[in-house]
Amino acid sequence: MDMQVTTKTKQCPKCNEIKPLDDFHKNKSKKHGVAVQCKTCVREYAAKYRQENPEKVRERRAKHRLENPGKERESLARYRLENAEKLRERAVKYHARCRQENPERLREHSVKYRQEHPEKTREYAARGYRKDAEKRREYSKKYRQENPEKTRDSEAEYRKRNRPKKTAIQMKRHATKMQATPAWADFAAIEAIYFEAARLTQETGVQHVVDHVHPLQGYKYGICGLHVASNLKVITRSENQRKHNKFTPYVESECISTPTF
Ligand SMILES: [Zn+2]
Repeated sequence: MDMQVTTKTKQCPKCNEIKPLDDFHKNKSKKHGVAVQCKTCVREYAAKYRQENPEKVRERRAKHRLENPGKERESLARYRLENAEKLRERAVKYHARCRQENPERLREHSVKYRQEHPEKTREYAARGYRKDAEKRREYSKKYRQENPEKTRDSEAEYRKRNRPKKTAIQMKRHATKMQATPAWADFAAIEAIYFEAARLTQETGVQHVVDHVHPLQGYKYGICGLHVASNLKVITRSENQRKHNKFTPYVESECISTPTF
């Protein structure tokens, strides 16, 4: 019985503890096939060495990298895979400490990262967004209940800011129904005109609207003005109303399509 126990244990000369052989790194060249000191002592020694000789460690790593191209990356990838959970926890802790100690630097870092990795950034954002959706909905609901006034204000502000966009989208839908939007229509350019009308309204205090130079009459009239930027013009609302009382004559133009087109 005693024999069996001693073949499976060994005393570490550093900490003097008797430990199972599993607590020693394997080393075939040594007695019992294990290293002299226990894993804990080796680890402590290595950490102390790294701390006291940062230059030497850096040099040796650089040399190793040079002599074993690709190998380090491989083992690093394997290490990350095998220790994913541990690394995540460590990263979370590290970030928490950075946030506390040097928030400015963390912000700079994060801005730089986002600039250099736009694809990844979008992916992360989408993932986080989906993950927190439920929590966010609850928080937002609670906030709205507790701050009805602020909610009203910000909603009104949002609507106001996005009104031109909404108008542009509604007009796009209408134009589609009228079959007046050709494939080459540039919707961003069209939308910009709606924002321009809103800007003029805001700055002059006079209501401005977006007008189709050649009206979208639909095919029942035989011709159809197109919903394209070159057929759009910003005019005042009163000009627009005057115009509606007049007949717009047929003009040869890229802004017009006929049923044969
Ligand atoms: Zn030991």
